[in-house]
Amino acid sequence: MAIERTLSMIKPDGVERNLVGVILSHYEAGGLRIKALRRQQLSLAQGRAFYAVHKKRPFYEELVNYIVRSPVVVSVLEGDNAVTKHRHMMGATNPEEAAADTIRKKYAQSLQENTVHGSDSLENAAWEVSFFFALSEYDYFN
Ligand code: GDP
Repeated sequence: MAIERTLSMIKPDGVERNLVGVILSHYEAGGLRIKALRRQQLSLAQGRAFYAVHKKRPFYEELVNYIVRSPVVVSVLEGDNAVTKHRHMMGATNPEEAAADTIRKKYAQSLQENTVHGSDSLENAAWEVSFFFALSEYDYFN
């Protein structure tokens, strides 16, 4: 299997409820390595840009307001099949539909406040990682 990198974001509802450590533990226990990590307050412009792919959807403004409400924790996760593995750990977008033992099933509050974001393809992972991190922050030899 290929070693991949993907972006994780612990969203405001997760950081507000002090779930950072418990969520990062899921990633490590599931075989992903945290290569870079930062707690960050997104500006309105950053929130809009990050979710630009959803700008035609009716919930876009609400989603942007939520993501800039308070700090997020972003990280670069690395491992075999990291994009798909991370998405499986997260669970379905709607926590009511998420499988048992997934992060969203355990911790998400609603469809919007679903605690975690994860890149949904290798192509989007490359863009999302580069949105938050410089190459020198995660691409090194150990
Ligand atoms: P994801 O890849 O599983 O995060 O799901 P999507 O890319 O479809 O949606 C991005 C994010 O928008 C989700 O994680 C939710 O936070 C939010 N979202 C998705 N659908 C809805 C919706 O119908 N209403 C609202 N308010 N938020 C939504």
